[in-house]
Parts: sequence; C-alpha cells; structure tokens
Amino acid sequence: MPAAGGNGLPLAKRLYKSRTLGLTLGFVCVAFGMSPLSPPLWVWAFMVINAFVWPHLAYQWSRRTTSSLRCERRNLLFDSFCGGFWVGAMYFNPLPGVTTLSMMTMNNVAIGGPRFMLAGWVAQALGIGTSLLVFTPAFIAVTSQTQLYACLPILMLYPLALGWICYRQAVTLARHKRELLALSRTDSLSGLLNHGAWKDHLEIEFQRCRRDQQGAAIALIDIDHFKVINDTYGHVTGDIVLRQLSKVLRQNLRATDLAGRYGGDEFCVILPDMPLNRATEVMDALRDRFNALAYAQDPTLRASLSIGLAPYQPGHADSTSWLNDADQALYAAKSSGRNRVSSVQGTWLRSV
Ligand code: GH3
Ligand code: MG
Repeated sequence: MPAAGGNGLPLAKRLYKSRTLGLTLGFVCVAFGMSPLSPPLWVWAFMVINAFVWPHLAYQWSRRTTSSLRCERRNLLFDSFCGGFWVGAMYFNPLPGVTTLSMMTMNNVAIGGPRFMLAGWVAQALGIGTSLLVFTPAFIAVTSQTQLYACLPILMLYPLALGWICYRQAVTLARHKRELLALSRTDSLSGLLNHGAWKDHLEIEFQRCRRDQQGAAIALIDIDHFKVINDTYGHVTGDIVLRQLSKVLRQNLRATDLAGRYGGDEFCVILPDMPLNRATEVMDALRDRFNALAYAQDPTLRASLSIGLAPYQPGHADSTSWLNDADQALYAAKSSGRNRVSSVQGTWLRSV
C-alpha cells in the first residue's frame, strides 16, 4: 500500500482533494450515462451521495481512525467498488464505462502500485457483479454524443490533477533526498563534514593533485587535554569548545578549504592549492584565534590546539599515506609539548 508519511494523514489529505474532484467530474459522466435509462429515485440519491457526500465522509473517517493508511485503503477499494457498480448500472455504455474504470485504475496504480491496482480491479468486478444483481443485465453498445461530451471534463482534468500531484510528490521526495544526503555527510555537533564525507573529499583531492600535479596540504587538529576540560568544566562546556573550534575553522578558512570533524576532539582540513609555508601561517593564526576565543569565554579555560600538517607529495602511494603523514606530524606536535603546528618533515614551524 501507498508509501505516505507518518500514519498516512498526508495521503488522506491528498486523496480528499483528488477524490472530491474525481467524483464531481465522474458524477457528470455517470449522470449522463444513466439519465436515458430513467433510473429510480434511489439510484439518483445514491449517485449524489457517492459524488458529493462520500468524499467528506471518507476524509473524516480517515482522520479519526488510528491507522489512516489502512482506512484510505478501504476507502479506495470502496471507490473502485462504486465505479464498477456504476459501469454495470449504465449497462456497460462504452465511453462512460471505460472512463470510470480507467480513471480509478490510474488512481489506484499511482497510489498503491500494481498490487493495489489488482485489488482495485477485484473491487470493480464485485461492484459490476452487484449491479448485475440489482439491475436487469443489459448492454448498450453505443455512446451518444451528449454522453461523449459529458466524459470530456473528467478525461481532461483528472489526469492533469493526478499528474500534478505526482509531480509535486516527486519534487518533495527529491528535496528530502537532498536533505538526507546532506545530513548523512554532516557532523551533527559541529555542522562540518563528518569523518566519511571528509575522507571522500580527501580521496578526490589526492586524485586531483596526482592528475594535475597540483599542491595541497592537509591538517589534523586536536584539542589539547580535552579530557581535562570535560572533567573540569563538564561535557556541556566541552561541546561548546568543540563548536567554537568549528566556528573558528569556518570563519578563518577559504570557501574552497574543506573542514571536517575526524572524530572526538580531532578535526581535519584540506587546503587545496596551498603551499606548506602558507598553510602553516593559516593554521598558526587559527590556533591563536582559538586560544583567544577560549580565553575570552572563560579566562581559567586554557584550551589550545596541536596541529599536524602534511603537504601532498608525488611519492604518496595513496590518500591514506598522505593522511598518515599528517597523523605523524600531529603526534610530533603533541609529544614536543602541544599548542603548536608541526609539519610532516618534523620541522617545528612555530612553537609556543
Ligand atoms: P591530548 O592532549 O593528548 O589530545 O589529550 P586529550 O585529553 O584531548 O585526548 P583524549 O583522546 O584522551 O580525550 C579526548 C576526549 O574527548 C575523550 C572524550 O570523552 C572526549 N569527547 C569525544 N567526543 C566528544 C564530544 O562529542 N563531546 C565532548 N564534550 N567530549 C567528547
Ligand atoms: Mg585531544
């Protein structure tokens, strides 16, 4: 059955509109199919109730039930049953009959796929069977010109409405897909790229450097003694510090640089087309800003950064070996006293 959000209420709302339109237009088609047969009053009453009361009843029923989805399934099958009934009641008049059956089938397949279309056909067959029991079985082979014109509004407008609904749904689904994709690549705490997404970019950058013989640098950034910050000030403050670092990264990098959260208190940056000496200056400035920001928030909070930098080198076998260089540089920055930027060559580019 139809894939709809939540308990199916969005589907019920959508069907309310399309059912109201479809049954109003269908009434014109069936009324002109029935009128030459001079049906008894109860048939007219049933026709009016089916066209103008049933859509509202169906919607209210759907809104009040615990499973709106299951209720709409029943409602749609009842629609199909009634469609079959009117086809039999019109003595199988070709154009109004085919119009009624095909509009309902189009509706069923659009909403519930082939399985639901089959279920709809069974309901239509039951409706036809019921009308054969109620009315004397007969067959009208020719559709009059008036009946033909009476079928035109539904033939023109209903597919248009259904197509529009399907198009809107496709647009909404595409938007949701884009949003989900962005979410799946974003770290929820920092709003930066997450580990997997950043590594994908690293691979792309590595291939680009190799292909175009371009230079680039990557940096691994780790907060010093972050565990102590957590233990002393609490995890909420720890989270604020992590967000501050992501803010500093966003504000101090170029639009083309790619910052991510590698995991825990470790962040990572790709600096395309940037020589090592320039990358070092940028990272040093970033380290200073982070120190100042943490100090401004709480002078007792001495948060600092250790940063490992690695330039792309043609000798790198793959992106992992490039990343390993940055990891080694970070390790060197940590082991030599923290709060500094270190490059892979082991040269202390600046120590504090
Ligand atoms: P070092 O200077 O060697 O980097 O020491 P450190 O204490 O920063 O390193 P360690 O890896 O021991 O501690 C990292 C801590 O980060 C441990 C973990 O509880 C904490 N952490 C990881 N993710 C989060 C998070 O999302 N929020 C908070 N508040 N803490 C986190
Ligand atoms: Mg740390």
